[in-house]
Amino acid sequence: MNSEQWIAKADKYIMKTYGRYPIVPVRGEGSILWDVDGKRYLDFLAGVAVNNLGHCHPKVVAALQHQAAELIHCSNYYHIPSQIELAEILCSHSFADKAFFCNSGAEANEAAIKLARKYSREKYGPERYEIITAVESFHGRTMATVSATGQEKVQRFFDPLLHGFKHVPFDDAAALEAAVNPTTCAIMLEPIQGEGGVNIPSSGYLREVRSICDRHGLILILDEVQVGMGRTGKLFAYEHFGISPDIMTLAKALAGGAPIGTMLARDEYAAAFTPGTHGSTFGGNPLVTAAAVATVRTLLEDGLLNRAEEMGEYLQGELELLKKKYPVILEVRGIGLMIGMKLSIPGGDIVKKGHDRGVLLNVTHDTVLRFVPALTVTKQEVNEMIGILDGILAEIR
Ligand SMILES: *Cc1c(COP(=O)(O)O)cnc(C)c1O
Repeated sequence: MNSEQWIAKADKYIMKTYGRYPIVPVRGEGSILWDVDGKRYLDFLAGVAVNNLGHCHPKVVAALQHQAAELIHCSNYYHIPSQIELAEILCSHSFADKAFFCNSGAEANEAAIKLARKYSREKYGPERYEIITAVESFHGRTMATVSATGQEKVQRFFDPLLHGFKHVPFDDAAALEAAVNPTTCAIMLEPIQGEGGVNIPSSGYLREVRSICDRHGLILILDEVQVGMGRTGKLFAYEHFGISPDIMTLAKALAGGAPIGTMLARDEYAAAFTPGTHGSTFGGNPLVTAAAVATVRTLLEDGLLNRAEEMGEYLQGELELLKKKYPVILEVRGIGLMIGMKLSIPGGDIVKKGHDRGVLLNVTHDTVLRFVPALTVTKQEVNEMIGILDGILAEIR
């Protein structure tokens, strides 16, 4: 079947939760995707910051193939070596002491919300349950994470939302502290807002947040679902800001494209999850955790963190040159390969023209082009994308 035929069938059978583009990718390697008609695309979205090692990295493919033939699933009633190994790697490279595994970013955040509430209830009593999050944040699509998310477009239609969330402007420590009250148990933030438009806080913000948490006895939860796993040039984004959280969630890039989520915590908090209080059938199963172990090892061993930093600087520099040429570009901002380009116009047309010319771009928050390529992206690939984007901008100005 060709892409037109697949799309006609999708129309008939797939729920329309996404406004999908008319592209049917069937094969990938590194930063290149091919569709079912054989058309080649340069991928600067990387499965929404998931394919940090590029598509079908040989080490991830080998780990999946090997594990699939050994044991795919056995349940969390038993001990799972690749899950234990993954927890050890993540804890030894972060602030955390223990890990809980699930299948997605939303579930990881659900787990964080539940852990924060249970810990606080046991320590302070049932009146302490409120979690403060940021305006323009994104934490997922389940009911609790929709309630945590600070975006009306994610929340509308689903009232009543879960009680116990309050939203304050991002990057405003005074507003955050003013919102703290006797019911507050935790503060939950993305260190850099992803879906909200690649919003980078001013230096010092997260240190102030950490200090507010310490002064009021609040749990600091960082949602690193999008910015973790090397995207910013460090394994975890919090490392840029001179602080560490009490709880952190990861998902997207953790298993090289296999579905996984994790919530990491310091022992003091982790102890609140006792047998029977939380769980997930598939969470951390042998197949995905084997992929994740291979992914994290490759990230650490192949110098990809430095590469993300270097290629991020290169790509940002090239985007800055476009900004000098085209006044529709208001700002280029980013850390490592987490880069946003703020436009004075909606970015949808640029994305569509990119597709016609063989480059997969993304627009978030309507007017922000988001560049989140694989950390393995090459200079030539960046140059090719920049050439195409330059051509598109020349047409629309
Ligand atoms: C993508 C994302 C989520 C949700 O992850 P899912 O795997 O889609 O549930 C949560 N938080 C952030 C910051 C994200 O970018």
